[in-house]
Amino acid sequence: ARPSPFLEPTSRTAPNTLAIISLSKEHYQPITLQESIGAVDGYAEGVTLNTRFGSFPHSTLLDIPWGSQVRASVVDTGSRGRKRRRDQVEDEETPTSNQDDGNDTPTSAPAKKAIAASSGFIYVLRPTPELWTSSLPHRTQVVYTPDYSYVLQRIRARPGTRIIEAGAGSGSFTHASARAVYSGYPGSDADARGKVFSFEFHEPRFEKMDAEIRQHSLQGIVQVTHRDVYDEGFLINGKSPKASAVFLDLPAPWEALHHLARRKTLKGGKLDENPGDWDSPLDPNKSAYICTFSPCIEQVTRTVTELRTLGWTDIDMVEIAHRRFNVIRDRAGVNIPSEKGFSAQPADVAEAVKKLKSDLKRTQDFHKAQTSQPVSDTSESKMDVDESTPESNTGDLNKNEDPLWLQGRLVHRTENDLKTHTSYLVFAILPREWDEAAEEAALAKWPCGG
Ligand code: SAM
Repeated sequence: ARPSPFLEPTSRTAPNTLAIISLSKEHYQPITLQESIGAVDGYAEGVTLNTRFGSFPHSTLLDIPWGSQVRASVVDTGSRGRKRRRDQVEDEETPTSNQDDGNDTPTSAPAKKAIAASSGFIYVLRPTPELWTSSLPHRTQVVYTPDYSYVLQRIRARPGTRIIEAGAGSGSFTHASARAVYSGYPGSDADARGKVFSFEFHEPRFEKMDAEIRQHSLQGIVQVTHRDVYDEGFLINGKSPKASAVFLDLPAPWEALHHLARRKTLKGGKLDENPGDWDSPLDPNKSAYICTFSPCIEQVTRTVTELRTLGWTDIDMVEIAHRRFNVIRDRAGVNIPSEKGFSAQPADVAEAVKKLKSDLKRTQDFHKAQTSQPVSDTSESKMDVDESTPESNTGDLNKNEDPLWLQGRLVHRTENDLKTHTSYLVFAILPREWDEAAEEAALAKWPCGG
C-alpha cells in the first residue's frame, strides 16, 4: 500500500495525493492532486482548482515543494505555461502578479477578466491531522486540536499504543490518534504495532469514514467497524483488540462502559454469570486509560458514577479553555485610533518617550552601581511580538533610532476564540488485571526478601 501522507512525509507534491490548500489564515480546502488528463479546449491543464482568489490548474501544483506559494493561473495555461509556472514557484519568493507574462498575455474580454482574478495565490500544504481537522468535511461535531492533543497525552497514546475510539464521527480524532500511535516499523510484529479501533453506528458516516481512511492510506493503522457500541461492545470478530487507551465521544458514554471491564459485566456493574468465551477488549497486562468527551455536566455525572461502579480509579475532569494571546507594541499613544483612523499624537508621544528614557537611565544607573556591568535587555526577546505599525502612521516616530524595546509598552490581547467545541473531558485509569498467577509471577520477578 502507498505510504500515508499523514504518517510518512515526502518533500514534494505528487499526483493522486491529498494536499491541503491554504486560501487564507482561517480557510483550508483539501484536494486530491491530479495529473493532467490531456488537452481541454486546446489547453493541456486538465483539472483545475477554482477559488475566489483565481484558478489553479493542478499541473501548477504538482512536483513542487510542500508549503509552496502558487500564483493563480492566467488564461493561456498550455504546456509551456506549465513549465514556466513551476519554475516561478521555485524561483520567486514573493509573487506579485501574473500580468507580465509577455507573449502569452491574452487580449479577449474573458481572458482579461481571468487576468484580473489572477493576482491571488494559495499555499499547497502537506496534510497533517491539524490541517485535516481545519479542512475536513464536517459530518458531525468534531474534536479540535487543543482538545485532542491534551487527550492523547493523558491517555498515554504513543507509538505502539492500541486505542479504542467511538464514535468515529468525522474522523478528526481518528487522524490525530493514528499519527500518535504509528510506530513506523511496517515489518514489526503486527500485535506490537499501534492501532486505532474506531466504531461508528451511523451507516453513511461509517462508509464515508472507511473510504476516507483508505484514500489516506491509513487502513493499516485504523480499523473502522460499523457497530452500536452500547449494545455490542468493542470486540473485533469476537477477539480482543487488546487496547490500553480508550476515547469515547458518544452521547451516552456510560452506556458503553460495562463493555470495557476486565470481566464480562452487565450494565450497572454486575458480573455476567455466563461470560462464555468472552474476552476483555483491554490489554490484561497494562493499565487502561480512558477519556470521555461530553458537553454537559449531567453526562459527566452519569459517566463518573458508572466509572466508579466498574472499578476505574484516578477519575478527574478537565475543561480546556484555549486562548491565543496576540502581543503587540503600544507605541506610547502612536497607535491610538481616531475617527479618521490611526493618528500620531506628537506631544503625547514625545512626553512618553522622554519619560521612558528617564526611567531607563535610572534603571541603568542603579544596575551600574550594583554590578558595574551594562544592563542588557532580555524582557521581550523570547516573546512572539507583532511589531507592525499601521500604514497611515508614518510620521517621524517611525524613524526613531531608539531600540525597539524603548519605543513603547508591550500589551497583549486575546485573539478571537480558537475554534473548539467546548466539552468536559473525564479521565480515569483501570489498573491492569491481577490474579494469583500475576501475583506469583511478580513475586518470582521481584522477591520481597523476607
Ligand atoms: N470524535 C469525532 C470526531 O472528532 O470527528 C466526532 C464524534 S461525533 C460527536 C459522535 C459520533 O458517535 C456520531 O458520529 C454518532 O453517529 C456516533 N455514535 C453515537 N452513538 C453511537 C453508538 N452507540 N455506537 C457507535 N457510534 C455511535
